Amino acid sequence: MSAQLIDGKEVAKNIRKNLKARIGALKAKGIIPGLAAVLLGDDPASATYVRSKERACEKLGLYSEVVNKSDTLQQEELVEIVKSLNNNDKIHGILVQSPLPKHIDELSVTLTISPDKDVDGFHPHNVGMMLLGRPGLLPCTPYGIIKLLAYYQIDPKGKNVVVVGRSNIVGKPIAAMLLQKSEMANATVTIAHSRTKNLGEVTQRADILIAAIGRPKTITADMIKEEAVIIDVGVNRVEDSTTKKGYRLTGDVDFAPCSEKASFITPVPGGVGPMTIAMLMSNTVTAAENLLAKKKL
Ligand code: NDP
Repeated sequence: MSAQLIDGKEVAKNIRKNLKARIGALKAKGIIPGLAAVLLGDDPASATYVRSKERACEKLGLYSEVVNKSDTLQQEELVEIVKSLNNNDKIHGILVQSPLPKHIDELSVTLTISPDKDVDGFHPHNVGMMLLGRPGLLPCTPYGIIKLLAYYQIDPKGKNVVVVGRSNIVGKPIAAMLLQKSEMANATVTIAHSRTKNLGEVTQRADILIAAIGRPKTITADMIKEEAVIIDVGVNRVEDSTTKKGYRLTGDVDFAPCSEKASFITPVPGGVGPMTIAMLMSNTVTAAENLLAKKKL
């Protein structure tokens, strides 16, 4: 393996360490940053995500609350829960765990979350501010990718970045963030997706390749150029009878052969994943600071 591993656990640890002073300053003013997660149903993967967010809060001394309701909860009832969290002074960040049951209109729920407490960065207000390059709460996974690049001093300025995937939570926002006329941005960005022709030709142009696809081994070594930086966002379960659970987690990138060619690469797990939760904690602290500043006005 010639590529340097981008260690998301280490960078996330560093983010948490830096948050401690800010949390201390808020506590000195009588404020404990609080995160509320709304979880509908008992999907095991969603429950695991919510538990890990709770644990992350505990570790940092943040307040956390989980509102777990049946997946038969009606839209209006969910909206009421979100509204009451908007008005709850103990809560500075609200997230509604996806996927939501089919009868729920996700956008209406997102629109109900106060933009000040929208720690997922999914509210159109925050999405718009991000596009404008103005301060707002940034979506956690893309924000985490920027922090990973910064930690390893990989400046995207002037680089060809290819993002494979155009979802609202990863592909589109990371492309928009890297396009900004600002620090850790200024890249020439291409977005590819399932309708892109000759994907390999497009990805070969990437100095920095970001894969957010959700299909194992979609990016193979022949699709990347020598010395490329590879950020693998994908989290896929593949069958593996040698493990206790019967599966293992893998990314979208064919890791071993790509790491022979790349200059930097993120592993899965241990790359982008830990950053997503670290940035959620960071956004919760930022939201608490912003809400305090607003109250002072
Ligand atoms: P989505 O399913 O919403 O989007 C996937 C994107 O990949 C779509 O734009 C799709 O194109 C594109 N795509 C699918 N197949 C191909 C293909 N063969 N070639 C090119 N493009 C393709 O997924 P998400 O963005 O939500 O997530 C992507 C992955 O990242 C998943 O594995 C997810 O679990 C993981 N993830 C990890 C996080 C972390 O913290 N580590 C956080 C969030 C997500 P089209 O639009 O045309 O359908």
